Amino acid sequence: MRDSTDQAGLLGRIAGMRAFRIQLVVLVTVYTFAVFGALYYQSQRLLFDSLQAEAASYLDLVVQTRAWNASHGGVWIEKGPFARTNPYLRDLGITADIRTMDGRELTLRNPSAMTSEISRLTFESSGVTFHLVAEDPLNPFNSPDRWESQALAYLATSDAGFTETVERRPGGSAYRYIELLEVDETCLECHGAEGYRAGEVRGGITINIPVADTESRLARTRWTLTGLALVTLGLAVGASQWFVGRLRTRLDEANKRLSEMAVTDELTGLANRRTVFGRLGAEFSRARRTGRPLSVIALDIDHFKRINDRFGHAVGDAVLREIAQRMRDSVREYDLVGRIGGEEFLVVSPETERTDARVLAERILATVRDLPISVGEVQLDVTASAGVATAGKGDARSDDLVARADDALYSAKERGRDRVVTEGEFRRR
Ligand code: GH3
Ligand code: MG
Ligand code: MG
Repeated sequence: MRDSTDQAGLLGRIAGMRAFRIQLVVLVTVYTFAVFGALYYQSQRLLFDSLQAEAASYLDLVVQTRAWNASHGGVWIEKGPFARTNPYLRDLGITADIRTMDGRELTLRNPSAMTSEISRLTFESSGVTFHLVAEDPLNPFNSPDRWESQALAYLATSDAGFTETVERRPGGSAYRYIELLEVDETCLECHGAEGYRAGEVRGGITINIPVADTESRLARTRWTLTGLALVTLGLAVGASQWFVGRLRTRLDEANKRLSEMAVTDELTGLANRRTVFGRLGAEFSRARRTGRPLSVIALDIDHFKRINDRFGHAVGDAVLREIAQRMRDSVREYDLVGRIGGEEFLVVSPETERTDARVLAERILATVRDLPISVGEVQLDVTASAGVATAGKGDARSDDLVARADDALYSAKERGRDRVVTEGEFRRR
């Protein structure tokens, strides 16, 4: 019964420990991935922040260049194979071509055409393009694409100064950044006829930056961080499990020591008073149930006080330990020896008749008496007295048995010590 309770307790502890270990693994895993996830998110954010700053400064430059162009009412450039007349100007009724006095052919570049041409140049050098978008452009090339339409609609109704996206494209993804473009006085020169008014918004500028490089950098970061996360996780899980394992071993050891301490006498290593009386109670019930004999021997060291007084307490302790050892060596396997007081011991002897118990007691006293006990330099001749009692029909409680053994022991002391008295002799007295 007790065994099964112990087993249930043990199983419960093991299950609890396993649950704790699993919780720890989950916690460490969640923590590691949270930390590395945050690191990844942060590095992604940093990369996009720098793209955003790059796009914003491109856009600013485009706006300034356009403003410069517009402030001069357009700029004249020499015509050539790559500098043709802007047909849309002609459509607006603006003089787009002139010939100088010295015969050179010039054509007018307005902000919009200039932006497209610069965009072609930046595209060739770095892949970056600008796109001027208007809701109803003269030049169909300036029509918004799907994202730009959505972005313009969004920006028109929100306070955000810009919006951005990353667009997957077959040739490599692009970071796209768009801001609204406000109509000013200089725009009206060309667009006044279309009903443009200064201050209103008729479109925006998109900056497209290729991000294949950025993405492969991000992918490398992702792999590196994943690797690091797995290594960290492995180490953390390993370390925590090792730590828990160690803790558990320590706890088990401590528990074992504690439970040993609870049943053992610290000085001699014999059963302590509680244990020996517990066992006596159990054996007493069993003997009553089965009718089998049960004897006890009460033993007390003779003149122990003198040893303490002459040689000190430490020597007294050493003597107690030696006598305990000799008692342990003298009894049979199923006998239990316990220390029940300062220099008093009790032997519980199941299945033992009075005469056999007496023989056992004599044997114990002989082992105490026959060999002097050496403690360091000191050689001590020590004796002990013993009282023997055997359970009988009249015994109601195990305490009665011990009380009779004590009385017999007292009688042994009275009769001159170093002897065994059994209760029979004592009763006869
Ligand atoms: P008797 O022959 O009548 O038994 O005499 P005694 O001196 O052995 O008995 P008494 O009861 O007068 O003294 C027992 C002594 O045992 C007193 C106490 O100081 C000593 N004692 C009790 N416990 C310990 C212990 O743990 N260690 C040591 N060294 N001495 C102890
Ligand atoms: Mg004594
Ligand atoms: Mg005593």
